[in-house]
Amino acid sequence: MKITEHIAQAKDTLISFEVLPPLKGKSINSIYEHLDPLMEFKPSWINVTYHRSESMFKKKTDGTFEKVEVRKRPGTVGICAAIMNHYQVDAVPHIICGGFNMRETEDALIDLNFLGIDNVLALRGDAPKNEASFSPEPGGNNYAIDLLKQVTNLNNGIYLDEDIQNGGKTDFCIGVAGYPEKHFEAPNPEIDLRYLKEKVDAGAHYIMTQMFFDNQKFFAFVEACRAAGITAPIIPGLKPLTSKKQLSVLPRIFHVDIPTELSNEIMKCKTDAECEQVGAEWLVQQSKELKQFGVPVLHYYTLGKPSIIHQVVQKVI
Ligand code: FAD
Repeated sequence: MKITEHIAQAKDTLISFEVLPPLKGKSINSIYEHLDPLMEFKPSWINVTYHRSESMFKKKTDGTFEKVEVRKRPGTVGICAAIMNHYQVDAVPHIICGGFNMRETEDALIDLNFLGIDNVLALRGDAPKNEASFSPEPGGNNYAIDLLKQVTNLNNGIYLDEDIQNGGKTDFCIGVAGYPEKHFEAPNPEIDLRYLKEKVDAGAHYIMTQMFFDNQKFFAFVEACRAAGITAPIIPGLKPLTSKKQLSVLPRIFHVDIPTELSNEIMKCKTDAECEQVGAEWLVQQSKELKQFGVPVLHYYTLGKPSIIHQVVQKVI
């Protein structure tokens, strides 16, 4: 079922989760072990992230090094199919521009359609770790809006090869990313919002946000979106802060602010377990306030911490 249908039919705030594919070599059971405890909350869907390959230097037998492309977390499409089969719940794959040309993307979308997947979250992706800025593959999509337009074209039966006219159309519900604290490359929030509106005007059905720890930033973002004429549902992405290290890591990697009140509480903690309790309680309060605000869905990034998410959701629903 489409995300927009889930939202339209909901009688209460929905819950959804996001998982990362396990590191290469791990079994699908690691995903089930991660999700099993969370299934009691009857999530409406589960997102599965996509990870591009990274360049690595591997030593050859003659002692020289060769550059190889390694995908550390492959399997997004397979995990989506496994989740749908195992739990009878919708799975939402993330699809990214980075690392794919448009033909590869078209093939992937055809696979997803054959698997009965109704939704995709269309993203640009980031630059590989060893590169300063994002650049598309030759023949690949440059921005999320270009990928979105490719999916929309397929929804209208328009394939890359114009002579393909078999009448086959996909029918994906398409989500895009939004940033309550601005995407780090955008010069200012107004320009970032302009590009977000372009994505919605080009056919995005809903927006899913980057994590944030200050609800006021989300409320201001929603207000700015509505003032700009964006009417699509806006789903908050939520994550617990679980260690002192994250006080510096999360702002650096995800470009989000940590409120002083939360960082002060975390700084007082003596153990990781205490940090987890503070982070969980903060997320409970955030979630309750967002629910009261009327968000359609509370979407939790589970990121290896399903027990904390379990603790939080139990107190929220
Ligand atoms: P875009 O919408 O393309 O925006 C990128 C930047 O370009 C922004 O600064 C924007 O303001 C600007 N911009 C947009 N359109 C234009 C234009 N036409 N001309 C000029 N500038 C423009 N990454 C992954 O690799 N895998 C994942 O699974 C993944 N999941 C994510 C899930 C969520 C909910 C979020 C919020 C992010 C996720 N990311 C993921 C990270 C995401 O790929 C990065 O944040 C990336 O840097 C931007 O992606 P985007 O789709 O927002 O890009």
